[in-house]
Amino acid sequence: MSQLCYTLTDLWVNKLGASFATLGCVQICARRRVIIRAMFTYLDPGVRERLLAEDKLISIDRQGRRAPAADGTISILGPIPLPMTQDERRLSADWYACVRNTELARLETLAADLRAENAQASFAGLASSMAVNSVLVVGDCKRWTEPLVRVHSSCLTGDVFGSERCECGPQLASAMARIDDDEQGGLLIYMSGHEGRGIGLWAKAATYILQDAGENTYEANRSLGLPDDSRDFSDAAALLKYFAAGKPIRLLTNNPKKVNDLRALGIDEVTPIKHVVGVTDSNRRYLEAKQLWGHDLSKDDLGGS
Ligand SMILES: [Zn+2]
Repeated sequence: MSQLCYTLTDLWVNKLGASFATLGCVQICARRRVIIRAMFTYLDPGVRERLLAEDKLISIDRQGRRAPAADGTISILGPIPLPMTQDERRLSADWYACVRNTELARLETLAADLRAENAQASFAGLASSMAVNSVLVVGDCKRWTEPLVRVHSSCLTGDVFGSERCECGPQLASAMARIDDDEQGGLLIYMSGHEGRGIGLWAKAATYILQDAGENTYEANRSLGLPDDSRDFSDAAALLKYFAAGKPIRLLTNNPKKVNDLRALGIDEVTPIKHVVGVTDSNRRYLEAKQLWGHDLSKDDLGGS
């Protein structure tokens, strides 16, 4: 296994330690030298070979079939057992990390260039720029006949900060609880590139300021010259084809467009299951805008949670 050694200040020790904790093991030794036992494809091809041999790194094509890594395919790393606690509920899932091989190849090329320039400290920035989607599998997929599924768009403010400007945080927690309670179980696909319905966190912050000046969530997107909803569900569809293996799915959503997009991408048998939770005075106006836009939300749904 390769080792990269740097002499770093406290700041860089902390920064790199945090950034690489998810990629490999970090040892801090005497004289502030950091030895990073780097791993993963762009840092250690030996580890990649081992993961491939153990079937813990695979690639799938757009039809969800195992395929050689190539442009347009998706690499999947896992299963990684993930014990979790949410709202005092303990549950466990198998986590799979998923990236487009096109993005991964670009990252590997950039990483090689940076290594040649002795600019290793930039790796952390590089790695965080790659969209890594997640699949959480609950239960035994071999027993599934119609798994319960949530395709959840990432929302830093709702999922992580607990913001009530939207209902994403409660929807995420409730989806995991419903899948865990379900007789068959199912899966949650967490789409990391879907922040702000696809416009990204920076633009989403701007729309919040516009909304506070009177615009609704869709009008604010249009004021920025951005689409109402630019989310791409093609990766989710490929992952569903692989993990659900062609079985019909029950989809936790109030959004008919999401159902239609998945059907258009070849997920033919989708039964939408209403998923209303987390309605508060802070997000009622936002949800009323979604209702007008086409979400399956009734007056009663918006009365409160
Ligand atoms: Zn949200």
